[in-house]
Amino acid sequence: MSIPIKLDNGEIKLFKGWRVHHDTTRGPGKGGLRFHEEVDVETLKALAADMTLKNALVDIPFGGAKGGIRVEPSILSIGELERLTRRFAIEIKEMIGESKDVPAPDINTDERVMAWFADTLWTTSDKHDNGLITGKPFAIGGVLGHQGSTSQGVLNAVRNYLKRSEGSFSQLRAVVQGFGKVGAPLCYLLSSVGVKILGISDVTGGIYCSAGIEMTELSKHLRNGGQILNFPGAEAVSKEDIFQIECDVFIPAALGGVITEKVAQTIPAQFIVEAANGPTTLEADKVFAQRDIPVIPDILANTGGVVSSYFEWVQNRQGIRWDEGEISSRLLSYLDLAFEAAWIKASIDGVTLRDAATQIALERVVDAHKLRGLFP
Ligand code: NAD
Repeated sequence: MSIPIKLDNGEIKLFKGWRVHHDTTRGPGKGGLRFHEEVDVETLKALAADMTLKNALVDIPFGGAKGGIRVEPSILSIGELERLTRRFAIEIKEMIGESKDVPAPDINTDERVMAWFADTLWTTSDKHDNGLITGKPFAIGGVLGHQGSTSQGVLNAVRNYLKRSEGSFSQLRAVVQGFGKVGAPLCYLLSSVGVKILGISDVTGGIYCSAGIEMTELSKHLRNGGQILNFPGAEAVSKEDIFQIECDVFIPAALGGVITEKVAQTIPAQFIVEAANGPTTLEADKVFAQRDIPVIPDILANTGGVVSSYFEWVQNRQGIRWDEGEISSRLLSYLDLAFEAAWIKASIDGVTLRDAATQIALERVVDAHKLRGLFP
């Protein structure tokens, strides 16, 4: 759809946005809203399909959806961003609903954007369906700990992998690409369990420290207005150099398609954990298989956020609230079950974790299709 808004200078600017429903056989659509200058409908279709698989793999009752606006949000004022979000919400209103399609945050969208989106739909409706969007602020129906749940899930995927490969957090050296809603909490979580973080990058560039980046110092530096790139406790490197740092685990937590065939041929990591959606190209995946480098795929590694979204939706629909401890233990049990199922299938069938996870998810979607049959 087209999304016209009035800019602060009085001009009218037209943006393009989409919402994609991929498969809703197992339940309402579920998937994030992305505001990014490279958003297009083909990418969103692929991400919506990923959501169908992800939700089936962790066995939550949702189908797959995704949406977004082609925009570089950093050039908009807060007012412009709010008007853009509200107009987008109205344009896709007919597709959204707690039993229809439930959006959530993704790249460059946060709980404030979710609040504007929800408020627009509540204000223009005669119903107050709390569960029509997740990732909301706590005060209007969000859940405790939602913001860190994807990162907590990624950490849990690393833990599950180490448990089965006789590794330990204290001996692990990690490089993380992306320092946003997923990458930043993940770095703090990794560091809190003793992982040495050798490199971090964001859109402006990267940093490297052979002794491990001191996360409390980095946090102080960022709070005082510093940037990743000018952190005095590490050496500045380019965005591309981040792929050349020797480490045990490389964790992409930024955009899709960043690990190309060329990158995969030389990346000096023992295993890869996909915190981002679709960071590894098909060709790169083949290279990793040839090089015997295990990849914990996105649909297995970054599912913590959508499981937590599911909990928010359940609580909103029941009008109840669980405490943080209960949410966290429920979250880990969903994620552990999915990891165990994929690991066993990969071992028995002699396939990669990506193939195992994808097959489990597809079988569940196909079963749902068969059981429901064809109308009429
Ligand atoms: P975000 O917008 O909060 O952060 C993105 C980060 O990537 C920023 O630090 C940005 O500077 C960095 N980045 C952008 N381009 C880069 C580049 N070329 N090199 C290095 N860094 C770059 O987004 P997010 O919510 O943290 O999402 C990150 C990834 O995780 C996305 O692929 C998203 O689809 C996926 N994901 C997010 C969630 C969630 O709960 N937010 C859940 C599952 C998956």
